[in-house]
Amino acid sequence: MTNQSDSWLNLSGRVALVTGGAQGIGRAICGALGKAGAVVLVTDRDAQGAQAAAAEIVEAGGTAHARGLDVTVDADWEAAEAWVRAEFGRLDVLVNNAGICLFDRVGDDALDTYRKIFAVNVEGALLGMRTALRIMRETGTPGSIINLSSVAAKSGAPRMASYGASKSAVEHYTRSAALENAQLGFDIRINSVHPGMIETDMADQVYDHYGDREKLIPQMTTGRNGSPEEIADLVTFLASDRSSFVSGSAIVIDRAKTA
Ligand code: NAD
Repeated sequence: MTNQSDSWLNLSGRVALVTGGAQGIGRAICGALGKAGAVVLVTDRDAQGAQAAAAEIVEAGGTAHARGLDVTVDADWEAAEAWVRAEFGRLDVLVNNAGICLFDRVGDDALDTYRKIFAVNVEGALLGMRTALRIMRETGTPGSIINLSSVAAKSGAPRMASYGASKSAVEHYTRSAALENAQLGFDIRINSVHPGMIETDMADQVYDHYGDREKLIPQMTTGRNGSPEEIADLVTFLASDRSSFVSGSAIVIDRAKTA
């Protein structure tokens, strides 16, 4: 991997922690941040998968470290915070990417799925923001927090209402947290990214749930799924100084599907 420290997106010297980095979009984000020169802290509840993702970055010439982290577990965040402080002394970027998708119908089984989904997608992101803000505010260096939301936050999603509600909550926390930090005088930017259908295990689950993948792709996309790398490029931009005036934004990335 070429260290693109002289390139447009330069993250040399920056420390970036990614949750859910073992596979899918999170893994692509870790790779892209590594290519841009960041020290990448790959975390996931799947510790082995996180190790493999970090090894891939190192093999390609980047710098990465791995750690098991279940975003729903407060003690995991406390331990991760102590690790970041002791080993790296700073945190410049947090990507709250870990997420789950479960299916339900409002009125039937929604309370159970709501609790499971909100624990990961919303509480996990909140704990992540709390941890990152503590470190970023203390060191006083500029920070960027990127929260993975979804186009599901933007319109009704039958049989995925709890998932959509969780992503709407992520969008709102992003806006309020961004405004709070700006008003308090911190140079900490917080944005949400809203992908359409992206080729990962999660998209497979969605297609399996709703029926025939080949029939659904024309309905759920504008012709094709996005790739994890296409999301990773946007996240890398948001992590970099090139997006220095972007904060509190909810950025849809779906090749015009919801335009
Ligand atoms: P994925 O299922 O392929 O990967 C999710 C990763 O998160 C896995 O590595 C998993 O181990 C990890 N994870 C799950 N629960 C965790 C927990 N409690 N603690 C730590 N790690 C945990 O999913 P993906 O498609 O790569 O999705 C990544 C993010 O993008 C999610 O937040 C998802 O909601 C969002 N998103 C995905 C799509 C899509 O079409 N794939 C669309 C919009 C938004």
